[in-house]
Amino acid sequence: MTTKPQIMVVEDEPEISRFLESALEARGYNVTLADNGKIALKISAAQPPDLLILDLGLPDMDGKAVIKSLREWSRMPIIVLSARDQEDEKVAALEMGADDYLTKPFGTAELMARITVALRHASRREAPAEMTYSFGDIVVDLAKRHVALKGEEVHLTPTEYSLLAALVRKAGQVVTQAELLQEVWGRDSLDHDHYLRIYIQKLRQKLGDNPLKPRFIYTEPGIGYRLSEEEA
Ligand code: CA
Repeated sequence: MTTKPQIMVVEDEPEISRFLESALEARGYNVTLADNGKIALKISAAQPPDLLILDLGLPDMDGKAVIKSLREWSRMPIIVLSARDQEDEKVAALEMGADDYLTKPFGTAELMARITVALRHASRREAPAEMTYSFGDIVVDLAKRHVALKGEEVHLTPTEYSLLAALVRKAGQVVTQAELLQEVWGRDSLDHDHYLRIYIQKLRQKLGDNPLKPRFIYTEPGIGYRLSEEEA
């Protein structure tokens, strides 16, 4: 018998947590419910789930504080739930170490796709120090700083390479604009969003990705970018 992945849902609205519980159980996941942040931290420390779904608006503490506390000891995938008007909260949560987000209201199919992707990337992350990452026809070797497309070397400028490497290191996760700007261009460039648009476009061209319908580098409008083999 294979063990079912354990998912913890941290949500104070009973209708939403009931909906999540039945949708997840129907897909074969084991579900634990927590209706506030303190309980969530207590249970996850005692019995770490394989994935956490976290509402950002909790009655007892800020959802971001839950992420911060978990990230001190765990890399478990965290998917945050946020309201449509909480753009800044979402970005902050991703910067705290959340892997992904869903905006309420969301559908079951979207939720399941995000969970599948997050669990797959988490299991890959546990593999011993993987320095090579492949997606589609592309292979990125982080140790050698080498990128190949269909076996042919892709010539990237140092800036293009840094941007790609930043996405590769967090493959499957949303990387925020601020994270990318800081990592590639430094702290002084945090308001230079246009750099990102320009360089993402160059990367897509060189990697044979279609900007109108990307297969690898996805845009999360207003938030950042995600490198993934499958649309989440
Ligand atoms: Ca709430």
